[in-house]
Amino acid sequence: MQPDFLNLPKNCGMAKVKYFYNPETCTYERVRVKPLDIVLNLSVFLTLAVVLAIVFTMVYGRIYKSEQEITLREENQQLLEHYNLLNRELTDVQNILEEIQKRDNNVYRVIFEAPPIATSVRKAGSGGTNKYKDWLKKGLKKEKLIINTAEKIDELKRRMYVQSKSYDEIAQLVKNKTQMLACMPAIQPLSNKGLTRLTSGFGLRVHPIYKVGQFHPGIDFAAPQGTPIYATADGQVHKAEYESGYGNHVIIDHGYGYKTLYGHMVNHNVKAGQKVKRGECIGFVGSTGFSTAPHVHYEVIYKGEHVNPVYFFFKDLTAEEYEKILELANKENQSLS
Ligand SMILES: [Zn+2]
Repeated sequence: MQPDFLNLPKNCGMAKVKYFYNPETCTYERVRVKPLDIVLNLSVFLTLAVVLAIVFTMVYGRIYKSEQEITLREENQQLLEHYNLLNRELTDVQNILEEIQKRDNNVYRVIFEAPPIATSVRKAGSGGTNKYKDWLKKGLKKEKLIINTAEKIDELKRRMYVQSKSYDEIAQLVKNKTQMLACMPAIQPLSNKGLTRLTSGFGLRVHPIYKVGQFHPGIDFAAPQGTPIYATADGQVHKAEYESGYGNHVIIDHGYGYKTLYGHMVNHNVKAGQKVKRGECIGFVGSTGFSTAPHVHYEVIYKGEHVNPVYFFFKDLTAEEYEKILELANKENQSLS
């Protein structure tokens, strides 16, 4: 018998057709591929291909970054650095503000007699993370840095607001102080070059008519009749009338507890209710009322008490002149009333 392999097709080595040896029949039989096998083989092949592709992409992605990704990473890094820098700068601003607040409390508010602002008030309304809870929920990366920065800005805003309010208050106080200074008697009631006109000081003096010791509630300046008399501070004329004691006299109410009186005028040229400025002429020297010679009797009244007018001549005198006038005011002991 001729062996079976002699029946093999001549092109068996190259053909894709497969054969197998069947020992039962002792022949080579052609392998019949079932459609299911084809499907299975194809599925395995595809699965492997997909897995390989994924692995490859992952490895590639880890090793090689896309240009866009590189740019984004760099930008992120830069932003982070900027955030850190911003945070440091905010801390500097906080420190500067702290200094301003200290100066405000310890210098300005002290000078202008305003109570200091408590730290709790300055910081009130700031702090606490509640406001930014949502940011945390959103899973924000670097959330501590970002929330910390936002909170710092909030606190700064609040503290600056309190500070600006404090400055407003001080500005008002300065304005009032300027007004107060303008309303404080500060000059002599008449021109007194050479300081020759002061004839009688404040305090216990010999009365010119009764010749007995009597309290003299003002200062007398002797001057020729008709010499102009000036308001010694800004204010409003309270009285401008004749009275047996003071004769023709003017009383000015300056506010802030101050009043001034000018007595024995020959006449006055203001009337009650009129506003006057420091240095404005309100009348003229005379000898009306209880007087022995032409002079102006000048009084300063502070909160209802007579005070020595000599302490209110500081504006138009040099230090030496002021000393001299103090000396004169103590030496002269007979009033002209
Ligand atoms: Zn007098």
